[in-house]
Amino acid sequence: MKELRVDLGQQRSYPIYIGSTLLEQPELLRRHILAKQVLVVTNETIAPLYLGKVLAGLTDYQTEAVILPDGEQYKTLHYLEKIFDGLLASKFSRNATLIALGGGVIGDMGGFAAACYQRGIAFIQIPTTLLAQVDSSVGGKTGVNHPLGKNMIGAFYQPQCVIADADVLDTLDDRQLSAGLAEVIKYGLIRDPEFLQWLEANLPQLLARDKAALAYAIERSCINKAEVVGEDEFESGVRATLNLGHTFGHAIETGCGYGQYLHGEAVAIGTCFAADLSRRLGWLNDADVARIVAVFKAAKLPVTPPAEMTSEQYVDLMSVDKKNVDGKIRVILLEAVGKASLPVNVDLAQLQATLNGYAG
Ligand code: NAD
Ligand code: MG
Repeated sequence: MKELRVDLGQQRSYPIYIGSTLLEQPELLRRHILAKQVLVVTNETIAPLYLGKVLAGLTDYQTEAVILPDGEQYKTLHYLEKIFDGLLASKFSRNATLIALGGGVIGDMGGFAAACYQRGIAFIQIPTTLLAQVDSSVGGKTGVNHPLGKNMIGAFYQPQCVIADADVLDTLDDRQLSAGLAEVIKYGLIRDPEFLQWLEANLPQLLARDKAALAYAIERSCINKAEVVGEDEFESGVRATLNLGHTFGHAIETGCGYGQYLHGEAVAIGTCFAADLSRRLGWLNDADVARIVAVFKAAKLPVTPPAEMTSEQYVDLMSVDKKNVDGKIRVILLEAVGKASLPVNVDLAQLQATLNGYAG
């Protein structure tokens, strides 16, 4: 097992445990539970797989579970209230602990519920998708969707610890695994060229769910995310580089309707667009762009933009991004393979050239 630390000053620093058979080691969890009451929040897909394992290590605690329906469409204030119902019905106090057992949806909801309940109770993340293990469980962003916008209601709230057990990925479907790899590849592209090389050599092992390879990829991803978050917890600078490919990606997710592309799939295509635009600025060469496209392909991710979207539609959707200032579209680009830029104000003609020119 590996133990990393997210360094956010004394009060809010916390460990990330990464390895295999971690769910069979309840002492990892128990050392972060400070009192007797424990609520596990999970969903109906994950509960039959892993809830029993987690509860088996906590038989001497007062445990309750809230099992939510499975899906992004339930990441709402309404379903958040189900978590508060569970806490209140069991008369849980301020020293209770909430465990989020699931993917990013459950992690974001559980974290936000923990931040709000009696103004904040202890919170533990047990991420069960690759995306959650390498991205959403680290960094303290929590929240729910509003009908008028994704992730619009939320808080920064850090967990006591994160337990990332690569074994749970055995039950994850192939498409979700690849979607998580898009964010893993992102860390290589934005700040860790050596890791990118390792990924290029080890994608077959990762896709075959080799445990040692997965644990290494999770560890290296979390190191990168923890360093960025440690430097810029509230996203006033370098944290924005984690959005490589995301402005294009969000346009694809919205333009094609949520659900057609998984987030990681849209980010893969979006990063290819960002690479193409970086080439037009003279920062990357043709071989760099081809290398980036190839690594996503090797991870079984799409690299061809959706045929139904026009460049006007992209520009329209990209102009509502949170990074924009004064109505100008800003994107993260690559100054080199392994080095992200800070947000760049894009020239509309150049953006159009990429949107019309990059075809996968
Ligand atoms: P998800 O939570 O919807 O999980 C994907 C699917 O896999 C679900 O059907 C889930 O039930 C299933 N699943 C989860 N673990 C499983 C397992 N071990 N075996 C079998 N099935 C399993 O999706 P996700 O990709 O994990 O997370 C996406 C969410 O994360 C979005 O809501 C996004 O906004 C959020 N997110 C948050 C942050 C952050 O910093 N807080 C970062 C990135 C994404
Ligand atoms: Mg993302």
